[in-house]
Amino acid sequence: MRYDESSPPPPESASSISPDRPWYARRSTLVVAAAAIAPACLAGWVLTEVLGGGASDDSRPPRIVMPLSASAKLPSAAPTPAADPAASPAPGAAPGATPGAPPGGTAPAGANALVGRTVVIDPGHNTGNFKHTTEINRQVDIGTNRKECDTTGTTTNSGYMEAEFSMDVSRRLRTVLEAKGLKVVLTHEAGKDRPFGPCIDERARIGNEAAADAVVSVHADGVSAGSRGFHVILPAKVKGGGADTAKIIEPSRQLGERIAGNFARTTGSAPANYLGSGTGLVVRDDLGGLNLSTRPKVFIECGNMRDAKDAAQLSSPEWRQKAAQGIADGIVGFLGG
Ligand code: ZN
Repeated sequence: MRYDESSPPPPESASSISPDRPWYARRSTLVVAAAAIAPACLAGWVLTEVLGGGASDDSRPPRIVMPLSASAKLPSAAPTPAADPAASPAPGAAPGATPGAPPGGTAPAGANALVGRTVVIDPGHNTGNFKHTTEINRQVDIGTNRKECDTTGTTTNSGYMEAEFSMDVSRRLRTVLEAKGLKVVLTHEAGKDRPFGPCIDERARIGNEAAADAVVSVHADGVSAGSRGFHVILPAKVKGGGADTAKIIEPSRQLGERIAGNFARTTGSAPANYLGSGTGLVVRDDLGGLNLSTRPKVFIECGNMRDAKDAAQLSSPEWRQKAAQGIADGIVGFLGG
């Protein structure tokens, strides 16, 4: 069942995450545990990379676990973790990039680093999409493939729509970021400005044309009960048609690591227990919104709307404020503010 451009592949079986996981998966869990306490530095995490092709994008299983480079150092605004995983990077990890360096490397660190910077926030789906199935089912070119213009998103069992959630968190996020002096662009405001969409290619284009310094697409997942937690989706390296992500791989990973760490800290949520091997980070090559982006961009799946415990959090305005704060802190840290 496909309800969400960002819907993940099926959950990993329990045996894939315990107890006979490889050493790096066990280590990553330890890192995540540390991150829940002092999560702003997530260097050394490993990624589950989702690879492959085919039309049934959402049914492909995670296939490869790859070590990440240990580059996610803290911005000055974030606390230094007691146990910095970067101190003992995973074997084979690449040397880290310059910590705290804003993309482009032109802005100074600190508050001034935020002056003149632009963040594009993409609220996943649209509350009107379900009334416009013909329009949103139209196939659009995502460079590497063709895919539906947009999807309706999921809901909680009590009917709270993912599209409502994503819009609410996005607006809260905008408020926090604007208070920091950032320019913020939303890709849409649902019924306020358009009855459906935008299509996923247009969502990417809005970030590109704004020359955004960071782009975040806000979502919540819709998988089986018992699957819990958040994950951040990073772009895979893809090239085809209008898609070429080579230049955004590294900055997007840095953005995603910072968001994941700060989100865990502000919400108290754990990384997803059903994919990503407990890292809270997943790489995907099948999302038009990522494939077509030329700016650093990630998706965040804030929780599972089909799990009662996660749904209770997602339905809480107080929790959504914490979620927005965590995402904002990650963005600000990424920008060197
Ligand atoms: Zn979604």
